[in-house]
Amino acid sequence: MKNKIKQIFGAALSAVLLLSACTAPAANTNSSEHKLNIVATTTMLADLSRTIGGDRVTVNGLMGPGIDPHLYQASAGDVSLMQKADAVVYNGLHLEGKMGEIFENLTGSSPAVICIENGLEKSTLLNVEEGSSTYDPHIWFDVSLWKSAAKTVAQGLSEADPDGKTDYERNLDTYLQELEEADQYIRSRTAELPEEQRVLITAHDAFQYFGRAYGFEVHGLQGISTDAEAGTSDVSSLADFIAERRIKAIFVESSVPPKTIEALQAAVKARNFDVSIGGELFSDSLGDEKSGADTYILTVKANIDTITDALKEGGDQ
Ligand SMILES: [Zn+2]
Repeated sequence: MKNKIKQIFGAALSAVLLLSACTAPAANTNSSEHKLNIVATTTMLADLSRTIGGDRVTVNGLMGPGIDPHLYQASAGDVSLMQKADAVVYNGLHLEGKMGEIFENLTGSSPAVICIENGLEKSTLLNVEEGSSTYDPHIWFDVSLWKSAAKTVAQGLSEADPDGKTDYERNLDTYLQELEEADQYIRSRTAELPEEQRVLITAHDAFQYFGRAYGFEVHGLQGISTDAEAGTSDVSSLADFIAERRIKAIFVESSVPPKTIEALQAAVKARNFDVSIGGELFSDSLGDEKSGADTYILTVKANIDTITDALKEGGDQ
């Protein structure tokens, strides 16, 4: 008897849920009753969506701090979250390397799909290597490109929720000013380093946009994606370079295990030169709440502080 009641109740409940799912407005929503439900892939995009969306939105970030987006496999729960969302925000440029098909299937279904790649001028993008037609996805390291990302999100949210357009545009204007300040901060800290010391060596090749924007020579031990392992010849040639140039510090990354950078440090030591590990950079994810770098702006500032302090003459060894 009890089971029977449970069954009936369960069926009634799922019918109600189904009904509300069908009748819930997909895009045009009124903030007083319903907040725009956004799903964003990376921690950077979750932060950007919250900043531009403000009070009108709730944001679910799929990847937590320290998660590597190149390798991230969406769970069935993630896919269901995306299908039920009012808007899905993702980077594109194959950053979310294992999720391409999922995004393709979302196009044309109910959520508004906001892809940062689509708002970027191709002329501003870097190729993964010379002659390649594949673009480097790590655009957030150049603050001017992140301004474009912010505009894309504001535009996408305004289309999904036209009543909120004024709010989104106001939040965008405020944020563009904050981004400009962050950009200036990075430039002023970079200026503390003599030009020949502006060499950034990290676990994977995430910092090319950073290098182009702020004048650093950049080398990553692994390639653009963490999907491929660094070979021993990569370690060996980079170790030669560090010893020859007498580079003071190399850096681990928050979303990549430290063992490759530690192997590089050991290889440099074998060449009778000591290179220090200059600290951890936030690369493909923001920091967690305890890190003090859990927003995009705090993260880019923390990174340039770590880089400058470690590479500076008389910096910590
Ligand atoms: Zn990466």
